[in-house]
Amino acid sequence: MSGKAERIVPTSLADFIRGMPKVELHVHLEGSIRPETLLELARRNQITLPARTVEELSEWYAFRDFAHFIEIYVAISRCLRTPDDLELIAREFLRGQAVQNVRHSEVTFTPYTHYTLNRIEFADQLAAINRARVWAETELGVTMGMVTDISRNSQPTEHSLLVADWAISAKDNGVVAFGLGGPEMGYPPEMFEEAFAKTRTAGLPAAPHAGETVGPESIWGALDSLRAVRLGHGVRCLEDAKLVEHLRERQIPLEVCPTSNLCLGVASSIADHPLPKLLAEGLYVTINSDDPPMFNTTLTDEYLKVAEIFGFEDQLLEGLVMNALRASFLPADRKAEMELQFRAEFDKLRGEEGSQVQ
Ligand SMILES: [Zn+2]
Repeated sequence: MSGKAERIVPTSLADFIRGMPKVELHVHLEGSIRPETLLELARRNQITLPARTVEELSEWYAFRDFAHFIEIYVAISRCLRTPDDLELIAREFLRGQAVQNVRHSEVTFTPYTHYTLNRIEFADQLAAINRARVWAETELGVTMGMVTDISRNSQPTEHSLLVADWAISAKDNGVVAFGLGGPEMGYPPEMFEEAFAKTRTAGLPAAPHAGETVGPESIWGALDSLRAVRLGHGVRCLEDAKLVEHLRERQIPLEVCPTSNLCLGVASSIADHPLPKLLAEGLYVTINSDDPPMFNTTLTDEYLKVAEIFGFEDQLLEGLVMNALRASFLPADRKAEMELQFRAEFDKLRGEEGSQVQ
């Protein structure tokens, strides 16, 4: 950590954070596999990974550069050989969200990778993930929407149009938005304009990654070419005052992932993370975990860290949770209903209405 003093989060605030009802908007299904499950799937599917234990996996996960990160991602995806494997990781992911009281998650998954690496048809991928989604809703009381994304580096035009068609076909069957992931450098948003125009016309909102490893021009591209209504990361908007003003005026939600930014070298330390600056600028901020086991974090940990490092208190944390709920792609009536439930639960967590958690 850098020179800034860390605060000790009082037990009551830590309990408050653990108990908070939560919503997560930026988390990847493939990046959420439990290390134990990944090792088991590799064994079962006879895939050789450069790690044989959980400890070795965490060493392998340690950040070298973005290319290494993508290499890990591909290796993980290779271990997902069947629709049942996808269903298993989706169930485990949702169980983990339920344990954290994450009541709704919008989860990115990259179908083209599973299609090309393991020849799993999109319809079979979707059916598998939907089985987990319906199970979690019934058994755990947590909901999920899927953000189908294009990986920027795999044959842009042809595959992005195919993935757009897949996403459209699943619009009323679990998929809630269209995303864009993979290496930002060298693959500007403009390359994907056609695919996003297609999905937008079909009623799917755009939630691409932008402004993570590339600066403001990537965010402008996401807004202008892809008509992004929500931005994955977006933290590098601070390099352009005009862009900050634009994002503030339109209140475009930023899916901020503090530990991910640290692990991938976007911020030099959590204490130097631009989160407080984003808030001070009046931007619309949400907190997310991105690829939690790969970054040795969870959504709850992200809230604990920002409370610890920046001294955020209960009111601000509640505001961040509510931001995520309001920026979700849930139907308006469902959001309104959940907002009332969340407010009541926050009051209950404080013990009495309006009092501060010490
Ligand atoms: Zn991401």
